[in-house]
Amino acid sequence: MKKGREQRQQELEAKAKEMIQELLDWTDQTDKPNLTQMEDEILALREKLSQAMLDSLIQAQESTHPVEGGNCPTCGRPLRPKGSREVHLESRVGAVVVERGYSYCPDCQSGVFPPGSAIEPDRSPRE
Ligand SMILES: [Zn+2]
Repeated sequence: MKKGREQRQQELEAKAKEMIQELLDWTDQTDKPNLTQMEDEILALREKLSQAMLDSLIQAQESTHPVEGGNCPTCGRPLRPKGSREVHLESRVGAVVVERGYSYCPDCQSGVFPPGSAIEPDRSPRE
């Protein structure tokens, strides 16, 4: 699914607004928070916003540079597209879930994420 700049902007703005609402709700619900509590709340919100930003950047890469087909890294035969799968990544800005094209090698009988994605090969999906 290709998303344009405008759509990504809308999604990021919606996320930022959501974070601001959460902060305001927390302020209403938390009586006399100390500095540590405030820090914890802000760090939690920052992590959520960072994850949304990373998700947006990865999606932009995937739609600008789609990875399709390719050959099996083990036997070199053409891979068959098998739709997409969720990939769970532990990034430095927190955990993100990314939808990625997924392929299957009928000879090796194994599924692979075709190389060439913004997601580095060493950041492999959790099995
Ligand atoms: Zn193979």
